[in-house]
Amino acid sequence: MLDDLKELYQEVILDHSKHPRNFGKITPCSHQGHGYNPLCGDTINVYLELDEHECVSNITFDGKGCAISTASASMMTDVIKGKKMNDANTLFENFRKLATGECEEIDAGEDTERLMVLAGVKQFPMRVKCATLPWHAMHTALIGETEISTE
Ligand code: ZN
Repeated sequence: MLDDLKELYQEVILDHSKHPRNFGKITPCSHQGHGYNPLCGDTINVYLELDEHECVSNITFDGKGCAISTASASMMTDVIKGKKMNDANTLFENFRKLATGECEEIDAGEDTERLMVLAGVKQFPMRVKCATLPWHAMHTALIGETEISTE
């Protein structure tokens, strides 16, 4: 990875972990997902609201996580808010592939750069599950399951 990208990655992660966006709970909410990563102890809850067009009108998260999982959740809620349910699921698949190294590049339109930065976590293999945890929680919320463990 280029040094520039590494630096950008660290800056973005630090910023989002210190100042998480969309932190909190939506009550009541139509969809909710819970994720737990026993390797690190991260617990993330994702809350979301779909409007009548199956568009994510609001999405928040709470829980206790490390800097990586918190930053990932924060960036994810930014990216997913306003997206159609189908597009949110596609973004989840794209990000998962990027972060696990299954593919090197994705085309996610305007969100490509943000996802690429976040997927920089693959340079720290131990942290990949931290980064993908909130995405799994969001995905389980959308497909109507409630719980996910990365193990
Ligand atoms: Zn973690």
